[in-house]
Amino acid sequence: MAMTEIQLLLELQHLDMQRQRLERALAELPVQKEIDDLEAALAVLRASLADTNAGLARTRKEQKEAEWSLKETVTAIETISTKLYGGAVTNPREIEGMQGKLKMLEASKARLEDRIIGQMEEIEALESQAKTLGDEIGQAASKLESLKNMRDAKVAEIESEMSDVVKERDALAAKISAGVLARYEQLAKDKGGLAVVPLRDGICGGCHVVLPTFLVARAKPNDQVVRCESCGRILCWVG
Ligand SMILES: [Zn+2]
Repeated sequence: MAMTEIQLLLELQHLDMQRQRLERALAELPVQKEIDDLEAALAVLRASLADTNAGLARTRKEQKEAEWSLKETVTAIETISTKLYGGAVTNPREIEGMQGKLKMLEASKARLEDRIIGQMEEIEALESQAKTLGDEIGQAASKLESLKNMRDAKVAEIESEMSDVVKERDALAAKISAGVLARYEQLAKDKGGLAVVPLRDGICGGCHVVLPTFLVARAKPNDQVVRCESCGRILCWVG
């Protein structure tokens, strides 16, 4: 026996709900949350690497400057020493002055050497940090890619299922008159999806009230829109 419009409507609603479930599944993919979290973590790692690299560049530049200063200091020490110990200067006051200058330069040389050692240690630590961060970024990026592939596969699967549901729904809708369909769609909107409910043993499947006999009798042939007098849903007699 061919299905009546009301029975078709119940089928249609089933497909609409399936479609809504698929849409929800698409919007709430668990793997998407993982992707979002990983992307946020990756952004933090990348910012941290950028900071480390900036620190590295700055320290390298400072070290180079310190090395230049050291070179200049060493040259100055050599120049004064040569003069001082070459025997050309004989004035005791001048000798004393040069010795004082030499002492200052030696102290400055020691300070610069210490600074350079400190900078070398810092550069080493920053380089190792940059390497660790680079490795972590590499791992996270590859994990992200595999998660995205997983997500894309899942999305394709759901979309294909959805397209089947839509096709089936369209075919079904074509068999239902425009007026009945419009009433169903408005009601589905008002009721949050559930617009057609089974009528079994005289009880509305939507709000569970016992319906009067005359209403059940009118609904029984399923050949016209009969609505529950309590919740307003369209009744589809099922037994
Ligand atoms: Zn009802």
